[in-house]
Parts: sequence; C-alpha cells; structure tokens
Amino acid sequence: MTERPNIRDLSLEEIESCIATLGKERYRARQILKCLYQGNATSFAEMTTLAREFRDRLEGLFRIAEPRLERCLTAADGTKKLLFALEDGLTVESVLIPGKNHWTACISTQAGCAMGCRFCLTGRGGFKRNLRPSEIVGQMTMLRRHTPEGPNTKNIVMMGMGEPLANYDAVVQAIRLLTSDHGLGHSNRKITVSTCGLAPQIVQLGKEICVNLAISLNAPDDKRRSELMPINRTYPLPELLAACHSYPMPGRRMLTFEYILMAGINDAPADAEQVARLLKGLHCKLNLIPFNEFPGSAFRTPAPEAISAFQQVLLDRNYTAILRASHGRDILAACGQLSGAAAATEKR
Ligand code: SF4
Repeated sequence: MTERPNIRDLSLEEIESCIATLGKERYRARQILKCLYQGNATSFAEMTTLAREFRDRLEGLFRIAEPRLERCLTAADGTKKLLFALEDGLTVESVLIPGKNHWTACISTQAGCAMGCRFCLTGRGGFKRNLRPSEIVGQMTMLRRHTPEGPNTKNIVMMGMGEPLANYDAVVQAIRLLTSDHGLGHSNRKITVSTCGLAPQIVQLGKEICVNLAISLNAPDDKRRSELMPINRTYPLPELLAACHSYPMPGRRMLTFEYILMAGINDAPADAEQVARLLKGLHCKLNLIPFNEFPGSAFRTPAPEAISAFQQVLLDRNYTAILRASHGRDILAACGQLSGAAAATEKR
C-alpha cells in the first residue's frame, strides 16, 4: 500500500484539484490551509470548519506530518539552535537570532549540502537529501508554536543547512506557503534566500517570486573563489554577476553579498578594492563575516585590524559594508557551522 501524501507538501492549486475530484468547491482548499497554518491543526478531526464527512474523506487521502522539535540549545548571547527530526530519522537545524525588537529565523532547505564550500562545516557532512516544502515551512510552524520567541520572529533567512536554489521547486513552494494569506502570512520583504551562486536559478527566481537575495561571494577573483567554492567552476564570477544584475529588487531593496573573511586568504585591502570593482553598478550591500573557527577548520579568523581595514576600503568607495557579529559560536550555531547533529543535550 502506498503511503498517503502529506497534505503539508501540497500547494493551494494541488489541494484544489484533489478536492475537485471529491466534488468540493475550490474555496475549501483555502479553508484547509488556514486550518493547518493558522489554526495549527495536527489532524483532520481538528478542522471543525469542515463537515465531518469531508474531514473523513480527507483523512483517507492524506496524512499530516511536521518535523519534530527534538532539542533547543541556548548560547551565551541568547541565540538558540533548534534540532528537528524528520520522518525518516534525518535531522536538520534552525537558528533563532535575537535582534533589537524581534527575532530572525535561519532555516534549512536541505539535509546536508552537496556544494562542498571548503570553509563550511555543513558541507563537510555531505548531502543527504532535499527537504520537502512541509519540512522547510515546518521549521517555522514548530518554532512559532514551541518557542517563546517564535511568535516574535519577523525575518526568515534561508541560510541554514543546504543550498536553497539546489532545491528550487520545494523552496519556491515553501515561500508561497510562508507568505500567502492562507499560509503563515509573512512579508516577502522579510524573507531572504541565500545562495552560493547557482546563476540560472537566480535568474529564474527573480522572474518567479519576489524575495530578498543574498549571494555568498567570499573571494574577489575566480581563482580563489573556485578554490573555496567548487560551484564557481560551473558558474564563474562573470556569469554569477550577470545573474545578479538581472535580479529585480523593487523600491530601495538591495542585493546582499556575504563575504566571509579568512586570515591570509581573502582579507587584504587589495582584495577589498577588487571586490569594490567587481560589484560596481549593483545596488547592493556587503555583510562582512569574520570566519567562525570550528574544530578542525583549515581557516583562521582575521585580526580585528585586518577586518577594519578591509571594511574601510569598501566604505571609502561608498559601499554599505556591515560587519556582522557572529551569533551562537559557543553552540556551533554561527554561519557555516550547522551540522544537523547538535551534540549537547539541553532539553527544552
Ligand atoms: S556554505 Fe552553504 S552552499 Fe556552501 S557547503 Fe555550506 S551550506 Fe552548502
């Protein structure tokens, strides 16, 4: 017997066409989604806005499943790392980062990652599988329900485990569920997709959906970028930057370039000058992230003076270049440190 599909993996249109075969009106699909995402229904029996006979038929067709929140670790700076168990036993992590007035959720889009960036702990563990829409959105629904900070989470960044644009269809569907009025109702202005540089998918995303885009740059030239990030051999900088130029950013929104500063590798003032030339003409800002060392990492955090000098070169050339404080280093929750295997055992 084949397993019933998880209704949380389906789009509005897919549910509409399924229930049409039951002779039900299209608007019932929105009702179902509202029960799931706004009423937090975990069974069809809880969907009391639907007739009992309809609920029973849905029960025969679908199941309802979400990731299970297994563990929550809290760092000294208040950052929280959440470990989720998926139905097949794999685990993924999300991070809740405190801000002045609200929280930012950094969520995963794949179990593991196939991109192999040399500075990234997630990449070292290899690729397990793509997450389904229910597993991407499920990180948000679970943290909204089960952490005190969840309801006050405004920003969502797809910067956790995995390369979002390598799981393109599920990510786009998840964004639709996160932003729609029958879903979680988040503002698309507060959602950021982060990519290591899959140029064709950047172009496609720009045509299909309006969210913020962050590009992990990390080097000022193709030679060094290819050494650090194998994806650059497939989509070198000219191709990547052409895709970035095509990406629509309405109003005053800017593209973000993430730049992990590694001592002696990419942190010289001349490198900053080269980055400034590279990004000329793009409406963008730079996030400078000093490398977060982890056990066995081959790279080192630059000295504070080197970081300041790099930043100053960019500021002098009228770039917005923000030095990002690392959050949650003591629990391996900082950028590039998620492994899906939170080792400590502080229970919720
Ligand atoms: S930096 Fe991102 S794309 Fe690169 S290996 Fe890590 S998770 Fe994957």
